[in-house]
Amino acid sequence: MEEVLIVKFGEVALRGKNRYIFENKLIAAIENNLKGCPGYFVSRELGRYVVCAHSSPFDFARVIPKVISVLGIISCCPAIRSRDMSMENIKKLSLLHMKKRYPDAPVKGYTFRVTAHRSHKDYPVSSQEIAACIGECIIEGAEGFKVNLKEPEINLRAELRNQVYIYSDETKGFGGLPVGSCGKTMALLSAGIDSPVASFLMARRGVEVEAVYFHTPPYTSERALLKVTDICEVLKTFTASFKLNVVNFTDIQMLIKEKTPPEKFTIMLKRSMMRLAEILAQKNECQALTTGDSVGQVASQTLKSIAAIDGAVSIPVLRPLAGMDKNEIIDWAKKIGTFDISIRPFQDCCTLFVPPHPETKPKVSIIESFEKSIDNLYDITKEAAENVKVYNF
Ligand code: ATP
Ligand code: MG
Repeated sequence: MEEVLIVKFGEVALRGKNRYIFENKLIAAIENNLKGCPGYFVSRELGRYVVCAHSSPFDFARVIPKVISVLGIISCCPAIRSRDMSMENIKKLSLLHMKKRYPDAPVKGYTFRVTAHRSHKDYPVSSQEIAACIGECIIEGAEGFKVNLKEPEINLRAELRNQVYIYSDETKGFGGLPVGSCGKTMALLSAGIDSPVASFLMARRGVEVEAVYFHTPPYTSERALLKVTDICEVLKTFTASFKLNVVNFTDIQMLIKEKTPPEKFTIMLKRSMMRLAEILAQKNECQALTTGDSVGQVASQTLKSIAAIDGAVSIPVLRPLAGMDKNEIIDWAKKIGTFDISIRPFQDCCTLFVPPHPETKPKVSIIESFEKSIDNLYDITKEAAENVKVYNF
């Protein structure tokens, strides 16, 4: 008998012929996250992965947080397993697990049910019979357990795969698909609350995310950049690695400010950001851009503004937060661990020089003619894209 961590994955299992690509990415991501935990390795089981320890005891408190952040995983379950799949041994292990896991049962009393699963249908006992047999053994052999099939406090599971697994705890993961299995996007990542969540949500759909941050020293502080790099460190825990391009945006921002009416400033600024991000996307083989826009949140996020902004580029722009409320976005930011970083006081460039009455229904043709009238706007945009500073996390 040994302690192991069962890893359950969701949509990966549905992916037909590409399944092995998804599975390999998932295993690589788990192994990557376990680098800081020597002594553990990943092995395959039928329909599951299993994290095993070279020596016991298994440090679940240390290993689970590393594994559970891998995207594509539905849940992790600390379990005991054995090669001996006889009913006698399965009953013995189940009883051992219940007594050890719920030592307060005689005092507190728990309701439970047993769910059994067998992968090999030639196993001589049916799943229902296995469950009934284990249930009986618990009632007879341990104090404080009562059967409740509909709403039990404990669901004791016995899974007969290539070995037998007994467990009753489950830590939920984020689900989704393994990162890198669905193409690549260039995310416009600011120091705010929204864009880190947008980046995470695309990663959760299996998209590899690279980011670009527009830095405007001395108007924005180095502390704002530090917020962004700290956010990248957090995002990396989900994606195994993370690349950030930092663009010096000061000249572009000042040029736009000088040459455009204040109410058009933000739209012009965003269009330049998009254009620059598109150049970087092409250079880095990304098929889309991603932003943290949520419809209606600010003037530049009305549908007319979004249309005017997207008109600057020909690449698809993904906006995973488009239909979310701020509170929902905040909940996500807290869940993934970027919220506390985002609320530090240093702002990014979009909050600078914001006019009191920004346009909410910009006309693309007018915006375009303003852009054309600024002599070297396109040239300095290209130049800025060639001078990015790259950070690899
Ligand atoms: P966030 O919280 O993500 O900063 P926001 O609510 O502050 O978003 P805006 O400042 O209008 O909204 O920005 C909208 C989107 O534009 C951001 O979600 C982000 O994708 C992108 N963006 C804004 N500022 C920057 C920046 N300095 N660098 C990179 N992307 C940016
Ligand atoms: Mg912002």
